[in-house]
Amino acid sequence: MTSRTGSAPRIDLHAHSTASDGTLTPAELVGAAFDAGLDVLAITDHDTTAGWAPAVAALPPGLRLVRGAELSCRWSGAQPAVPLHLLAYLFDPHHPELVAELVRVRAAREERGERMVGLLRADGIDVNWPDILAGAGGGTVGRPHLAQALIRAGLVGSVREAFGPNWLGERYRLPKEDIDVFRAVRLVRAAGGVPVFAHPRATRRGRVVPDELIAELAAAGLAGLEADHEDHSPAEREHVRALAADLGLFVTGSSDFHGTHKTVQLGAFSTSVEAYERIVADGVTEVASG
Ligand code: AMP
Ligand code: FE
Ligand code: FE
Ligand code: ZN
Repeated sequence: MTSRTGSAPRIDLHAHSTASDGTLTPAELVGAAFDAGLDVLAITDHDTTAGWAPAVAALPPGLRLVRGAELSCRWSGAQPAVPLHLLAYLFDPHHPELVAELVRVRAAREERGERMVGLLRADGIDVNWPDILAGAGGGTVGRPHLAQALIRAGLVGSVREAFGPNWLGERYRLPKEDIDVFRAVRLVRAAGGVPVFAHPRATRRGRVVPDELIAELAAAGLAGLEADHEDHSPAEREHVRALAADLGLFVTGSSDFHGTHKTVQLGAFSTSVEAYERIVADGVTEVASG
């Protein structure tokens, strides 16, 4: 594979648009990826493929687009269940069972968002659900949209503060009705896609799952682990690499770009050509070329 610039190809396999909790539209996202000098970008909005078509339609020449999603999952082996994220690449977006799960999870996110707003309002905090829903603009609703409402109301100064324990990080956080992670891995494979565990060791985000669970997921069809991610410490990245080598999984590195909802920039972390080619070889959906 050749790069646009003549140097090593730059491959970023995790980014969000306004189809979920990013701040750039899918068309703006691929434009920004081109401007950042990337050769490959994956669009991985939470629980939706709604950004695929507008991203493909706006794809600049020379940029390749991996169509994907980030599925909200849970592992029920601990109490309460541990929430986790599964990246899914190049799957059939019309697979009926997978589509049904995504529809269900998005609806549950809306109910949960509205209930979280209810908790805030019960404490006299002046945020309202219709504004937050409008702020999400039809995209998958998440806590970042509630964070923006808290900022608009002048209650917190930053997204970071909004995710603190007194706000959306703990006090007003409600669990989501996520997909059982084994079911998600099997569904992604059934839909011809390639499942990769997103930021599996990110202790700074909360509880993480044991390595034994990752080994069981590998046996169930998991293909890769995201190692290089801003939420992993250097030791956590090394741990993920060693575990992947043990289990015969590939590793990826990605920005998890969310526009101005996070500070990380496109291309901040990248994936090897070898891992990218394993995804392309295994996925049922073609990589789109601009
Ligand atoms: P939700 O899926 O509604 O539970 O919200 C989780 C989303 O919030 C993640 O996908 C991130 O985009 C964002 N997020 C989580 N923790 C933080 C944080 N500490 N700072 C900024 N954004 C965060
Ligand atoms: Fe997000
Ligand atoms: Fe994630
Ligand atoms: Zn993400």
